[in-house]
Amino acid sequence: MSDRAGMSLLARASAAAGSLRCLAAATTDIVEDARRRHGLYPTAAAAVGRTMTATVMMGAMLTDDQRVVVEIVGDGPLGHIVADADAHGNVRAYAANPHVHLPANAKGKLDVAGAVGKGTLHVTKDLQLREMYRGMVPLISGEIAEDFAYYFVQSEQVPSAVSLGVLVDTDSSIRAAGGLIVQVLPGADPALIDELEKRLKTLQSVSHMVQIGMGPAQMIDALLDGFDVRHLGEMPLQFSCRCSRERFSKALIALGPAEIEAMIREQGGAELVCNFCAETYHFTADDLRQLIQAA
Ligand code: ZN
Repeated sequence: MSDRAGMSLLARASAAAGSLRCLAAATTDIVEDARRRHGLYPTAAAAVGRTMTATVMMGAMLTDDQRVVVEIVGDGPLGHIVADADAHGNVRAYAANPHVHLPANAKGKLDVAGAVGKGTLHVTKDLQLREMYRGMVPLISGEIAEDFAYYFVQSEQVPSAVSLGVLVDTDSSIRAAGGLIVQVLPGADPALIDELEKRLKTLQSVSHMVQIGMGPAQMIDALLDGFDVRHLGEMPLQFSCRCSRERFSKALIALGPAEIEAMIREQGGAELVCNFCAETYHFTADDLRQLIQAA
């Protein structure tokens, strides 16, 4: 029997009379889903899991049809990591090179910074306005949580403390994963963030809290004890991709008849794999001929 923590869940709260916003997520299941889909090795699973966890929490700060895409572009062996989330707990993610596992770092932990390397963190938000919101910061650590914290303060001018954790089991499955983000909202004392960062460092790690069965609301209570927490509700999280046979058909049609005819001639069909979820779409020669007709 597996003792992996159950359904992935996100909780939201405000505290200190509205000065603080806090989100917590237990993401074991969705990170395990990503690991299985992409065949992520442990260091890659930790990097993708941390990125997914932060991105799904950023998605939860949005509303309605808004979306957020995070890209971590590093010069390490992972290549880039992409995660994409909406406001309703749906997230998908991948790394360019899923088969990355490095020796443990000096602290005996998975060497996520080594796998990511030096580079940049990009955030694109579709806020359903005329222009996309785009922000970019250099990676200051490659361990991802610090990089998101730096992004929030530099790019969004919101002092934030971020903790992300992925615990990989000896069989490479995800034992526990989760995250916490706490932000000091405009008008509040920005020095509060120093106090909260200190607390995050002395608190047990988020992956440990998830592993021992704490839910995200309890994680918020543990972090913000004494700050007059107001819980704002919970939401289930899922790994969910927007790809479909129809979308891939459109992409094929866009290549033009000559390209499609070459696929029929050279491969007798086409096999397309979605980057985000690793789902395979097979098109026979007859399917491709129909697409040429449609085009
Ligand atoms: Zn997909």
